[in-house]
Amino acid sequence: MSKTSDMVRAEVMRLSPYNSGLTIGEVMQRYAPARIAKLGSNENPIGPSPTLATMMQSSAEMFRLYPDPAGRELRRAIAARYAASEDQVILGNGSEDLLSVISRAVLRPGDSVVTLYPSFPLHEDYATLMGATVNRVGVRNDLTIDVDALIEAVRERPRMLLFSNPMNPVGSWLPGGDLSKLLDAVGDETLIVVDEAYAEYAEGDDYVSSLPFLKPRDRPWIVLRTFSKAFGLAGLRIGFGIVGDPHLRALLDRVRTPFNANGVAQAAALAALADEEHLAKVVALARTERARVESFLRSKGLKVAPSRGNFLFFDCRQDANTFVEGLLRDGVIVKPWRQDGFDTYVRVSIGSPSENDHFMAALSRLL
Ligand SMILES: *Cc1c(COP(=O)(O)O)cnc(C)c1O
Repeated sequence: MSKTSDMVRAEVMRLSPYNSGLTIGEVMQRYAPARIAKLGSNENPIGPSPTLATMMQSSAEMFRLYPDPAGRELRRAIAARYAASEDQVILGNGSEDLLSVISRAVLRPGDSVVTLYPSFPLHEDYATLMGATVNRVGVRNDLTIDVDALIEAVRERPRMLLFSNPMNPVGSWLPGGDLSKLLDAVGDETLIVVDEAYAEYAEGDDYVSSLPFLKPRDRPWIVLRTFSKAFGLAGLRIGFGIVGDPHLRALLDRVRTPFNANGVAQAAALAALADEEHLAKVVALARTERARVESFLRSKGLKVAPSRGNFLFFDCRQDANTFVEGLLRDGVIVKPWRQDGFDTYVRVSIGSPSENDHFMAALSRLL
């Protein structure tokens, strides 16, 4: 009888399982804490726009029917908001789905993909699955992005440059000047994919989206955005890409499954896009609370990365798994970073003020 490991492709055997952390139910079962702060997955403590409640009242038809496979209404709204054309917009079952679509469409065995390290695991996994080699560009000692090392790496003409800005898990970002310098260094043979999952939290000061730099560019590029973070729809699974070349978008469309963006998610995303006021409130709270948690961590003498996301990445100066287990006993869920060289690092999401208080109190007890 053949072994499962002989049946499955070698690239699959090289993938690590996704480190998703414990659910609220699992923590309850294990430790039964008095209360739980779920700060391990960068979810939004306020949630989506309250206008969604009205939308959900008419959702029975959306449950019954197949969604619009082209997602026209939502794509039109996205195109208007980001000053793109409708035929440049592609929808995904979360932006992670688009990472998979892009990798499957573009990557051949032996290709190289340049990404940042420590990395968002999905930026590496789909590349590995397709037989590509991942070239990791590490952050500097102060945990900022090393633009010169990135430029050096893209000079080797990889098939793809894929990075998040602001960067997950670290939170640091490429300021506008560095971003423009990097994008200028990329040649025609490299597909630029900028994952801007946290852009709404970051915009302003020296952070700019890559869209204004990329739009005038007659070379292959894709910017990924999501409704999971600042728009508060992580559970619905909807994200999108803006693709420089409409022809490339049309080809990617063939690779995705036709109903990857479900009807309820499309309708919810439309409602979320329309509520600017709610988005501003979410972003303002995350920024104020991030500053508060960051100064607390620094006051404890911990090394914390500069962050423009709704999360902070810090060195807990002990095995992160043990540290995180200690927080769990108190009902606080955070993410230990398990990549080489960062196994004393933890990523904590910025929650509601009381969740953040809960985290800080638990951490004080531990240290
Ligand atoms: C959270 C996150 C996403 C969003 O994934 P979805 O599939 O849209 O929920 C994408 N990229 C990065 C870097 C993220 O941190």
